[in-house]
Amino acid sequence: MKKIISRREFLKYLGSVLTLETIFMKSEGWSNEEKKEFYGLLVDITKCIGCRRCERACAEANGLPIPDISEEKNKEVFKTLRDTSTIQYTVINKYETEKGTVYVSRRCMHCNQPGCVAACLVKAMRKRETGQVTWDLNCIGCRLCMISCPFSIPKFEYEKAIPKIQKCDLCFDRFNKGLIPACVEACLTGALTFGKRRELIEEAKRRIKSDPDRYIPYIYGEYEVGGTCVLYLSSVPFEQIGFNTQLGYEPYPKYTTGFLYAVPFIFILWPLAMLGFRKAVEGGKKYREEEKKD
Ligand code: SF4
Ligand code: SF4
Repeated sequence: MKKIISRREFLKYLGSVLTLETIFMKSEGWSNEEKKEFYGLLVDITKCIGCRRCERACAEANGLPIPDISEEKNKEVFKTLRDTSTIQYTVINKYETEKGTVYVSRRCMHCNQPGCVAACLVKAMRKRETGQVTWDLNCIGCRLCMISCPFSIPKFEYEKAIPKIQKCDLCFDRFNKGLIPACVEACLTGALTFGKRRELIEEAKRRIKSDPDRYIPYIYGEYEVGGTCVLYLSSVPFEQIGFNTQLGYEPYPKYTTGFLYAVPFIFILWPLAMLGFRKAVEGGKKYREEEKKD
């Protein structure tokens, strides 16, 4: 009989559980922006016209179903507030406010110290030196990242036989090729700006100072949960347009650590069981294919 998961593999993944401490220590190091230059996105809500070109560009760049962004379709889409999903990494929502209609882009915030990364036992979620929070194919579908995200961003492919987590990775592959994220490239109004986080904050402050009637004097993401690489400028208070303004400034890995140590050990081992199951499914499939060849 074929061996589906070796002892070495099992110990390797068990090791990843036992080195949680190391993961948390490393994540604390990311808060030092002097050492690492994070890149990010400045979303200027006052400039967004709700065309959804960013949604379409995101789908094209990631091989996802292409949304209909005709004016007619947009009217229908904006009747409900949408969340991101496994096939939509960024969505635009419409809000009626004291300052008129406002369109808000929802997406992964690429936290400076991400709860999702701290919680991921197999390091499928990673905070890159340049700020992006990416996910890898070794995701075992344990969903600890979902529980640990203050913005409820990671989404799980419940409908798939071997499900994984999906979310925006700020076009990390494009970044490595020297390209800006697809959504930024597609936006014609200047609502999305990609750049170094430090410079984006300077730019946001400059805009607030030069046009105080247009902006409220606050940059969402500058300090929330330890700071995020996606930053927002708005004309109306953020709590009026779907933002959680009660998150505080403490990084989430702090809470995640407490959470993980508080859960029964079986839940820590659960991902390993799922990994074993996944290996079994993959191994079984491979075995059947090989048998067919013989
Ligand atoms: S918003 Fe959630 S998924 Fe995105 S980096 Fe932060 S913790 Fe991770
Ligand atoms: S492409 Fe730009 S203007 Fe159009 S919906 Fe997206 S962010 Fe708004």
